[in-house]
Amino acid sequence: MNDSRQAVVGILGGGQLARMLAIAAAPLGANSLVVDSAADACAGQVAPLVRADWNDYAALDDFARRVDVVTFDFENVPAETAQWLAERVAVFPNPRALAVAQDRLAEKTLFRECGLHTPEFMAVDDRAGLDRALATVGAPAILKTRRLGYDGKGQFRLKSMVDADAAWAALGAQAAKHGLILEAFVPFQRELSVLAVRGRDGDFRTWPLTRNWHVDGVLSMSLAPAPDIIALQPRATALARTLAERLDYVGVFALELFVNDGELLGNEMAPRVHNSGHWTIEGAHTSQFENHVRAVLGLPLGDTGVGGQSAMLNWIGELPDPAPVLRGVDAHWHDYGKSARAGRKVGHATVCAPDSAQLAQRLEMIGRELGREAQVAPTLEALRG
Ligand code: AMP
Repeated sequence: MNDSRQAVVGILGGGQLARMLAIAAAPLGANSLVVDSAADACAGQVAPLVRADWNDYAALDDFARRVDVVTFDFENVPAETAQWLAERVAVFPNPRALAVAQDRLAEKTLFRECGLHTPEFMAVDDRAGLDRALATVGAPAILKTRRLGYDGKGQFRLKSMVDADAAWAALGAQAAKHGLILEAFVPFQRELSVLAVRGRDGDFRTWPLTRNWHVDGVLSMSLAPAPDIIALQPRATALARTLAERLDYVGVFALELFVNDGELLGNEMAPRVHNSGHWTIEGAHTSQFENHVRAVLGLPLGDTGVGGQSAMLNWIGELPDPAPVLRGVDAHWHDYGKSARAGRKVGHATVCAPDSAQLAQRLEMIGRELGREAQVAPTLEALRG
């Protein structure tokens, strides 16, 4: 880093993750420069925006000259673009780590090599391959695209072998382009994620395990530290560290896990800051966004400890009335500056408290005032054990 001027962090993708990264970078004395093809990318409200496609190499060349380091808000940046940039400027996480995390087959294969069990899986390349995979993996199962799937998109659930034709009709066309994977359906009891950060010097830290609830494949709420996880935390941390070291990873990542009969199973890895870590902005001594910026700039990492318990509520489609959150005790509002659209993540709120009883009380009140009782109900149940 050049000490005579402010460092510039280049961010590929201009959504809410880039926006929160840019906000976290400012107090560290770092500026951000964001690339996105959309003129209204919401990070553009807080940082300068370069409008370019991922194959616009003239624009990317100019971008690379203006930044000290490049990182990602979006993991589906083409591997060739990441590699091309890495030949010109430091890119973290490195393009190999990005490529593994972009492909569900490579990712699950790596999980197993690192000692993390996964649901049974098999690659599917054609219709006959789906029958072979069903015979091996069994049903119920989920057929997923290997690449470019997110938030439950590009997935088809099969209750039995009879659903094979319908699954192929839904996703078969993707087989040639993105590849497919069939996974056994796991009747898990809980979904957890471990947020981890690794510095350029190899320093490694995790935040406490987070419990997550999804609705229609999209994160609805997170609770951290997840209750009753003391026995699982050391194993989750050790697995995340092994993965990070195998990939020579630099920055924050999230490892999404299922808990099935007390066993941790790996679902997927997000090679970036993650929605299930948004609570760290107010709920941890150092947020995922700040530690990611510190990591990619080669600065010392901050403390990932917490002072109490936090719950995060996602706002999908449109924002509710902010007043009940703004009036709440230790409650925090985040509006991403995006227009309302069905299924779109437009903001979140985080509620913090010194202990579970007080968090339950605060969350219940906010849920009631917002008319969001159904959204908070599973988290309240977990808090009240
Ligand atoms: P993904 O895009 O793989 O994270 O999947 C979205 C959501 O679908 C997950 O958060 C789970 O709730 C569910 N899901 C994905 N894979 C499985 C599986 N193998 N068994 C059961 N549920 C799954």
